Amino acid sequence: MGIEELLRFWKENEIVHDERIIEAFLKVKREDFLPEEQKPYAYVDSALKLFCGQTISQPTTVAIMTKLLKPNKDQKILEIGSGSGYQAAILGHLVQPKGKVFTIEIIKELFEFAKKNLEHFENVEVIFGDGSVGYKKEAPYDRIIITAASPRETVEGIFPQLRLGGILVAPVDYGDYQKMYRFSKLESGEIEEEEFGDFVFVPLRGKLGFAKFKTSP
Ligand code: SAH
Repeated sequence: MGIEELLRFWKENEIVHDERIIEAFLKVKREDFLPEEQKPYAYVDSALKLFCGQTISQPTTVAIMTKLLKPNKDQKILEIGSGSGYQAAILGHLVQPKGKVFTIEIIKELFEFAKKNLEHFENVEVIFGDGSVGYKKEAPYDRIIITAASPRETVEGIFPQLRLGGILVAPVDYGDYQKMYRFSKLESGEIEEEEFGDFVFVPLRGKLGFAKFKTSP
């Protein structure tokens, strides 16, 4: 199975039509973001193990979140949860030529893994830190994407870091699964929300993560 089969599946099921997004998935190779032993499974449509109990999201989930985020050229994007760096690389491709992606990771080993995987992506910067409070230093952002299951209050706490007209996409709540949300900050500053079905993510850690989980630092 290769990326072409996944792209065909996305087209047939009306998951992704946008030619720019399709091109990004063709250019960025998922195998370059996987530990050696997982490379043969790069284009199987499932989440795969990274380190420290973390996962690289299923390709279809990355495609759906990318579509919901509506990334455009020259935008400034924040990703919370770098993991392998794959989602950040896809976004980096889509914001070219002048846009930039900041991606923040809380686990040192994964921060280093993502940094290495992204070394040739000049417009993606990997930051080691706790993204449960966002990343104020570079705010405001045109787009924010959280790739770990997040408490609703935590997501709402990050809204101020979103520019007027901006979009934040995140899986919200924790249980057996999460609901995917798109929050749009209108020009009035009001937040409009839309819900897009069930997904499964690892929980957000850190200060405003799911502190009740033993895995939280
Ligand atoms: N987007 C990634 C997959 C993310 S998996 C990819 O494309 O591969 C979720 C990641 O979020 C894990 O790497 C986890 O360590 C990280 N994470 C969890 N809580 C975090 C926090 N508070 N700040 C930053 N990263 C966090």
